[in-house]
Amino acid sequence: MRHRRLLQTLAGLIKARRLATLTPKWSCLTRTMNLHDKYERPLRDLRISVTDRCNFRCPYCMPAEIFNERYRFLPKPHLLTFEEITRLTRIIVRLGALKLRLTGGEPLLRQDIETLVAMLDAIEGVDDLAMTTNAFLLPQKIDALKDAGLKRLTISLDTLDDDVFRLMNGGRSGVDKVLAGIYAAEDAGFSPLKINAVVQRGVNDHTLVGLARFFKERGHILRFIEYMDVGNMNGWKMDEVVSAAEIVETINSEIPLSPVAGNYFGEVARRYLYADGEGEIGLISSVTQPFCGACTRMRLSPEGQIFTCLFAIEGTSLRDPLRVGATDEELEAIIRATWGDRIDRYSEIRSSLTQDLRDRRKKVEMYHIGG
Ligand code: SAM
Ligand code: SF4
Ligand code: SF4
Repeated sequence: MRHRRLLQTLAGLIKARRLATLTPKWSCLTRTMNLHDKYERPLRDLRISVTDRCNFRCPYCMPAEIFNERYRFLPKPHLLTFEEITRLTRIIVRLGALKLRLTGGEPLLRQDIETLVAMLDAIEGVDDLAMTTNAFLLPQKIDALKDAGLKRLTISLDTLDDDVFRLMNGGRSGVDKVLAGIYAAEDAGFSPLKINAVVQRGVNDHTLVGLARFFKERGHILRFIEYMDVGNMNGWKMDEVVSAAEIVETINSEIPLSPVAGNYFGEVARRYLYADGEGEIGLISSVTQPFCGACTRMRLSPEGQIFTCLFAIEGTSLRDPLRVGATDEELEAIIRATWGDRIDRYSEIRSSLTQDLRDRRKKVEMYHIGG
C-alpha cells in the first residue's frame, strides 16, 4: 500500500515536472520524497491566507452578528509582511510544496497584493500560483495580478439568484458585482476559471442547475462544495448539508453527467464530465466522502502560523521564531517536525465524534486560514 502510494506520488511528480527536464530537478524531487506525514502524505500544496478581513459576511463563514463593528481583527503589525511570507514560502517550497494559493479572508483586501504575487512567482520550483476570491474587487485588480504572474483564479459564487446570493453574503453584494469580476477575469485570459459554490439545504439548493448551465456555457469549471462544519461560529448542522451524491443526481437529471478519474493525486474535487462532451463540474465532498488520505495541504495563516488541517485546533507559529532571528534552517526544522508529526484526518473521523465532542473542539475559523 505504502509503495503504491509512493509510486503514485512519484508518477504524479514526474508528470508534473516533465520527464525531459528531470535532471536539474532531482534535488527538489528528493526533498519532496523526504517530507511525509505520519500517514505517508507528502507536502504538496501551500495555502497562504493573507488577511483575516473580508468585505462579505457569508453566514457559513463569517456571520454578520459575530463579525460586526466590535469584532477585533488582527492588528497590522501582527500580519506577516510580504517579505516574511515570501521567505517562509521559499522554505516550504524547498520542502516539497509545488502549488501555492492565496486566500483569506478576502485576499484582494490586502493592500498591493499583486506585489506579493510577483514575489511568490519569482520563487524557484513553484508550479502553480492561484488565488481564491469573492471577485468583488477583481475588475480593478485583474490586470495587475496577471502582470504579476498569477496563473489561475477560483471565484466563489453560490447562486445566480440575486436575493439568495445577498442572503449568502450577508447583504454585501449582488450577483452583478461578482459577474463583473468573472468577465474581467475572462477578458484578462484567466480561462477556464474554477467557480466555488457552497450548497446549503433550503438556501440555494434549488438554484444549482441554473448555475451549472450558466458556467457550462461560459466554459468554466463549477465546483459544488458540501457545507462544512469549519470553525465554531456558523451553527453547522448535518441536515443543512446537501450530499455530493444528491447534487450530482440533481444536475444529472437535467444535464447528463459521467464520472471521470482525477487529474492528480491530492485533487480534492471528484470530477464529472457533461455527457455532451462540453465541460465538467467538480464535487468537494468533505463531509460525505472525505479525502483525508490524499490531503497534501499546509496552510499559512495571516499572522504566520502553519496549520496541517482545515479543522485544526491549533497552529504552529513561524512568525515568533522568525521575528527573533531564526535562521532558514531553524524554520525548516520546525516545518519538518510539524508536517512529520501530522496525523490529521478530521473529515474521516467526523461521524464518529458525538455532537458534544464536535461542539467542544475549538477549531480554527475558515476566514482565518482560507478554504
Ligand atoms: N474570500 C474568498 C472567497 O470566498 O472566495 C477566499 C476565502 S473563502 C474562506 C474560501 C472558500 O471557502 C470559498 O469558496 C467559500 O465558499 C468556502 N467556504 C467558506 N466557508 C465554508 C463552509 N462552511 N463550508 C464550505 N465551504 C466554505
Ligand atoms: Fe469572506 Fe470568503 Fe468567508 Fe465569504 S467565504 S465571508 S467571501 S472569506
Ligand atoms: Fe485535509 Fe483535514 Fe480536510 Fe482531512 S479534514 S482533507 S486532513 S484538511
